[in-house]
Amino acid sequence: MAPQIFLLIFASLLLSIPTSISTPPPRICVIGSGITGSSLAHFIKHYTCSSQARTQCLNDIHVFERRGHPGGRMATVTIGGDVFEAGASIIHPKNLHALHFASLLNLPHKPKPASGDDDSWFGIWNGEKFIFKTLPPPPPSSSALYRKLYSLLNSLLIFKRYGFSLLKMNAFVKGMLEKFLGYYKGLESRPVFATVEEMLQWSKLYELTQQTLQEALQKTGLSAQLISELVTVITRINYGQSVSISGLAGAVSLAGSDDGLWSVEGGNWRIAAGLLNHSDVNLYLNEEIISVSYTEGSYSLKSKAGNDHNCEITVIATPLDELNISFTPPVSIPSRRLQHTFTTFVRGLINPKFFGLKSASEVPDLVGTIERPDIPFSCISVLKKYTNEEKTYKMFSRAPATDDLLDQMFSGIKETIRIDWPAYPHYEAPEVFAPIILDRRHLYYINSFENAASAIETGAVAAENVARLIISRLLHSDAQTIRTHTNDLESLHIDL
Ligand SMILES: Cc1cc2nc3c(=O)[nH]c(=O)nc-3n(C[C@H](O)[C@H](O)[C@H](O)COP(=O)(O)OP(=O)(O)OC[C@H]3O[C@@H](n4cnc5c(N)ncnc54)[C@H](O)[C@@H]3O)c2cc1C
Repeated sequence: MAPQIFLLIFASLLLSIPTSISTPPPRICVIGSGITGSSLAHFIKHYTCSSQARTQCLNDIHVFERRGHPGGRMATVTIGGDVFEAGASIIHPKNLHALHFASLLNLPHKPKPASGDDDSWFGIWNGEKFIFKTLPPPPPSSSALYRKLYSLLNSLLIFKRYGFSLLKMNAFVKGMLEKFLGYYKGLESRPVFATVEEMLQWSKLYELTQQTLQEALQKTGLSAQLISELVTVITRINYGQSVSISGLAGAVSLAGSDDGLWSVEGGNWRIAAGLLNHSDVNLYLNEEIISVSYTEGSYSLKSKAGNDHNCEITVIATPLDELNISFTPPVSIPSRRLQHTFTTFVRGLINPKFFGLKSASEVPDLVGTIERPDIPFSCISVLKKYTNEEKTYKMFSRAPATDDLLDQMFSGIKETIRIDWPAYPHYEAPEVFAPIILDRRHLYYINSFENAASAIETGAVAAENVARLIISRLLHSDAQTIRTHTNDLESLHIDL
């Protein structure tokens, strides 16, 4: 019997098991306070401690974070007194977990910029010239009718260049989103998955991880021009990579250019901070874990600061690829390269000469680029206009932006902030996935799912599955796999 089917049947059998609590719940250690660590804590508490749950409440959760604040790759920077997203900045309207978290935590959605001040003025730069530009935005004082007309004309311009291929691209993204919605199905009809492969096969998304985006789009009949221009621009913006990323990461990336995208006022990191607070976990900031050793039913976590923490269950909620955590006994995961995205914020004014133009007002607010090795950046966008001579820009590049480059690209620079993000996996189809259960006991790795696609929502979906997996496995754990609670855990009742 396939493991996920077993777990589904197992979970439904539990509905008839009565609750009894006589020993303390197992302690759960979580390494990482980003969206995966914080949503794991939320789902564990939600499934076992909410008023409807008839289970032993798993409320002994300890989250370790090496930085001085929670959120991980959801982080902000402040420039000229304004707060901007530095990492994960946009959330799709169909990301139901993120929507639910924002509503649960009363986090307001950031209002959209006033029309004419957004990034709808868009151009594609090929290193020598703009091969495509939408129309410059209408003045803020223009009428609603004028704006509608402007938006219609822009749609016509895009359609003129890429034709019916655009409809095929939209259908491709819609197909992926519909399959992804399976992960929100009711718990009775959605198995608990022990591997990423099973999780993706169940939703029929696995195949997309075994081919490149380019292959997947060619099969759906997209034109070569659309793939090498608009699609490439979007994958370079969202994953800093070309159309040779996997079809699934590519589809997620393309969904990031849909309408209705949103973010949290004050920063998306507030979702992680809010979930940790709401779940009432023990949060240890500035506590970097350097080793995880298993002996006699318990994991001992050592921190750089010299502290020891002991837990029956340990969850890794961060990519392991560039970390030096030592595991005893050792764990084995496929090697994976992370794509570094260099994010540079500049307060100043773009230099039109860099783009062969006369005036900065001719440079679109969002400049995307095609694949050409001599183009030194992936994209640049205006985040805020202070005056016609002073704006704040965000630039993504695959290599650090040197002072020399910034001097060529900008004038009157007042402030610069640089971040080197180990941003997301370097996607290479066919993708291989690390195990979720790293040691056949209770050492779990949520970020094995990141090889499917890296995003706030995919992190939450992966964490929800790991939360259910932990609960389900505790229920049939034996003395060898976990020290405590054999009888009590068997009597847990979960509304899964
Ligand atoms: C520039 C950029 C733009 C992005 N844009 C978007 C976007 O627009 N929309 C979107 O949905 N996604 C976007 N993403 C992807 C998204 O940010 C990630 O997929 C998601 O935030 C990953 O969350 P996580 O919790 O798995 O990992 P992380 O957020 O990386 O959290 C892991 C945490 O673990 C901590 N940690 C690591 N090692 C240790 C240790 N040894 N001990 C203790 N703590 C440790 C880290 O400090 C970190 O806080 C973007 C990412 C980047 C970098």
